[in-house]
Amino acid sequence: MASKLEELYRDVIMDNAKNPKNKGLLKDPKYQFVHFKNPSCGDDINVEVQIENGIIKDIRQDGTGCSISMSSASVMSDVLKGHTVKDALAIINEFYTLVKGEEIAMEDELGEAVAYAGVSQFPARIKCATLAWKAIEQAINESETKE
Ligand code: ZN
Repeated sequence: MASKLEELYRDVIMDNAKNPKNKGLLKDPKYQFVHFKNPSCGDDINVEVQIENGIIKDIRQDGTGCSISMSSASVMSDVLKGHTVKDALAIINEFYTLVKGEEIAMEDELGEAVAYAGVSQFPARIKCATLAWKAIEQAINESETKE
């Protein structure tokens, strides 16, 4: 059973690396932009978030890097879209808990992001998995302080 689950998780990561969701920047002034790098792996990620009335209306992402970081950016953009800012920040924190290998309470909200649970066994890859999430967290916080 564990191997089936691992297979499913690997599929999520490979699918999102090959066919990334919400890929490509809009450079629209309504979006908050953040650029993050993970020098230890060479991952380079740009994210854009559009927030309206406390709700994440849209997320765009673009960048270069390993399949963990690229797929995680895709999953992040899909998972967080449509949530309130408060819920999105809670889900982001849950993701950090998940990749540390700790118990999570919001499995449903994390959706496909649970595929990164196995990253906890590879400490060097945790930064790859969390890069896009740290970037969007900062973009959300910057967007919120502007309003
Ligand atoms: Zn990486």
